[in-house]
Amino acid sequence: MEKRKVVILGDGVAGLTAAVYAARADLKPLVITGYESGGQLMLTTEVENFPGFPEGILGPELVENMRKQAERFGAEYLYKKAEKIEGQEMNFKIHTDEEVIEAETIIIATGASARTLKLEAEKKYFGRGMSICATCDGAFTKGKRVVVIGGGDSAMEESLFLTKFADKVTIVHRRNEFRASKIMQERVLNHPKIEVVWDSELTDVKGDDAKITHAVLKNTKTGEESDFETDFIFYAIGHDPNVGFLNGLVKLDDKGYIDTDKEQRTSVPGIYAAGDVQDHNWRQAVTAAGTGCASAI
Ligand code: NAP
Repeated sequence: MEKRKVVILGDGVAGLTAAVYAARADLKPLVITGYESGGQLMLTTEVENFPGFPEGILGPELVENMRKQAERFGAEYLYKKAEKIEGQEMNFKIHTDEEVIEAETIIIATGASARTLKLEAEKKYFGRGMSICATCDGAFTKGKRVVVIGGGDSAMEESLFLTKFADKVTIVHRRNEFRASKIMQERVLNHPKIEVVWDSELTDVKGDDAKITHAVLKNTKTGEESDFETDFIFYAIGHDPNVGFLNGLVKLDDKGYIDTDKEQRTSVPGIYAAGDVQDHNWRQAVTAAGTGCASAI
């Protein structure tokens, strides 16, 4: 494969926006998508806050539109995972499991992945009642009881989505107030199918070989543990940046995200970063698009 002027790692909103800008600048970017192609919007239903869509747009549809838009101007896609980067500006080598791609510059837009609590029970129950994705697994909860862990916008959004299927949705939150936006909180707190268990953490999961029967909840104020009947448990407790493959190549900030300057430069000349892999603060589709644009320019 010929040496590329720009290789973009990741095809979420940040990577695809960078691809649109780089392609329109005639740089013929190659986008290495990773195996979770499309990023976090693929796990969302309706996106209501991306400007320009007054009726909202489905997450996967927004991604597909961006993909086509970049392709129209000459972006190409490689559906592989970048496993290692070496070299320096004008002479980078990006290794996938099968090939080595040479690049003058790189934009890292590998995003962030859903966090779990790393409980022993996850090994047994992921795929049998525990999940990180309501959009993916919500349909299995028809007529069932569901617990959602978390207190941010994701927990609100997932809970509201799950009410379409489940009989009852219980949000378990470790504090006594949500960090979610007010509008989302109001929708949740006014929903007849949703209740909240405050000041509580999930410490274990009980069940038989096929399914979950109880979430073990610990009250964070009293320390008391109790069994809570449920059929499903969904995590919505935030994300961790996907930086493992970099092996310390670029500097990270104190939260483990890639450190970038105002022009999206990393500590390595010729490597830029955009989107959630370098942003623990805003983490919105539109801010990911903004940094994707800036990195390409
Ligand atoms: P988040 O805002 O970081 O919230 C994570 C939640 O999980 C917090 O309530 C946190 O509790 C809880 N949590 C974290 N670690 C935990 C642990 N070990 N045990 C128990 N609870 C834990 O993450 P998010 O909800 O995924 O949202 C990320 C970003 O995307 C935010 O900026 C959000 O606004 C945005 N977003 C927007 C929309 C929308 O606008 N429709 C939808 C989804 C997400 P504490 O509150 O106690 O820290």
